[in-house]
Amino acid sequence: MTLPAGTPTQLYVDGEWRDGANGTFDVLDPSTGAVVAAVAKAGDADVDDAIAAAAAAHPGWAAKAPRERAEVLRKAFELMTARSEDIAYLMSLEMGKSLTDSRAEVTYAAEFFRWYSEEAVRVGGEVRTSPSGANRIVTFKKPFGVALLLTPWNFPAAMATRKLAPALAAGCAVVLKPAEDTPLTALVLAQVLTDAGAPAGVVNVITSDVPGPVVERALADGRVRKLSFTGSTGVGSLLLKQAADRVVDSSMELGGNDPFLVLDDADLDAAVEGAMLAKMRNGGQACTAANRFLVAESVAAEFATKLAAKMGELTLGAGTDESTKLGPMVNAKQQAGIADKVTRTVDAGATVVLGGSTPERAGFFYEATVLTDVPRDSAAATEEIFGPVAPIITVRDDEDAIAVANGSEMGLTGYVYTRDLARGLRVSEKLEVGMVGLNRGIVSDPAAPFGGVKQSGLGREGGFEGIEEYLETTYVATSW
Ligand code: NAD
Repeated sequence: MTLPAGTPTQLYVDGEWRDGANGTFDVLDPSTGAVVAAVAKAGDADVDDAIAAAAAAHPGWAAKAPRERAEVLRKAFELMTARSEDIAYLMSLEMGKSLTDSRAEVTYAAEFFRWYSEEAVRVGGEVRTSPSGANRIVTFKKPFGVALLLTPWNFPAAMATRKLAPALAAGCAVVLKPAEDTPLTALVLAQVLTDAGAPAGVVNVITSDVPGPVVERALADGRVRKLSFTGSTGVGSLLLKQAADRVVDSSMELGGNDPFLVLDDADLDAAVEGAMLAKMRNGGQACTAANRFLVAESVAAEFATKLAAKMGELTLGAGTDESTKLGPMVNAKQQAGIADKVTRTVDAGATVVLGGSTPERAGFFYEATVLTDVPRDSAAATEEIFGPVAPIITVRDDEDAIAVANGSEMGLTGYVYTRDLARGLRVSEKLEVGMVGLNRGIVSDPAAPFGGVKQSGLGREGGFEGIEEYLETTYVATSW
């Protein structure tokens, strides 16, 4: 598959497209392994210039009427929606997901622009009387300034707009560094925002396949006052240590090991439908992907049979083919990592009901896989799989399911299926996670606070909460 004509491959700094000081790096089509584009590789000077541009643009952007910032975001929503087919195709090309998934992502991603165009005009402060009555407490919200936004490859559009939209709504200027596997979508988003009226320097995008030095340099720059990161817990933890040097405010959306509970009274067909979404959306490469199916003993066999039947129907192919329901994994490393986790889980005693191997074909594919008799301490149960593998663990009762679910250092999303809503809410409340899908296989919603507890992250994106991550509070003590 070829790159659509006009797709930007350069850095975007201070309203100009430019080459990278360190040459280029290749972006691959994961369905074949072929090169789709050579993308600019930023050097130190590019990082410095992007930060300088954002720092220079920030005061003017922050001083604009909230309605003006809102109009830019609203226009970005409209342009992104109008260009949705092109953006969906590009994402399927560079990341590999099916067009169905890419189209859904463009819709979801564009909605962050619309939601935060609505929130931009609702940033408020407070007036309180101090308990002693001696004075008033007046609060203002102000944008941090320059925000560094770092995004993963699995949702190249949505993970970017989920940061760009609230940051811009709040009045921050941004430097976005997308993942090296999927930089093209981020560059197109810079085009969208520029066409929507974002002034030069307000949005900058720098790309590199060696992210460590680029990010370290940016975090060491005194002008960067905010870090928002989505990615693995390992890298998030490293960046928190770097951010600590200058006490940079940090929001972290990190990894998951999400439990999917099927209680003994669940509607199994609904649970399988939800499981298909929770597990197979994005080929299983989602932080919200169901990682461990914790199923009541009495229904486990039937659930496994039904899930394997549905997963077995998925057509494997290039994301850009209309008929594809399961695309390739993003790169060879991810593919090998999934195969390794399945092998270790089977060696530990699990049974392969479906799939379980790497298909003999070009590209980075992995088969839709269902495993039963999965030991609770095996690789598939304890590590984030990030692929189309559904490990099923049987549990005795609700308490056992909750104990297994909470026996993880991760706490992003949980799913609960039951016909009894009160029982479902009781279980939901006990799960140590930031989000629960109760009789639903998907939780993502631009209007909802997205985020995790424990090692799954700090802060929330989306909802009313998302814009707060880019605002700090000044309080004035006064009386009148
Ligand atoms: P990753 O941590 O490898 O990369 C994320 C970003 O960090 C990329 O931009 C990458 O270039 C950059 N990066 C990598 N190494 C770096 C380093 N040493 N210094 C500075 N930056 C570095 O993650 P990934 O593989 O791209 O994404 C998958 C992970 O992201 C999974 O763990 C998944 O659960 C998580 N994720 C979380 C959410 C969420 O909202 N909680 C959403 C999507 C993905």
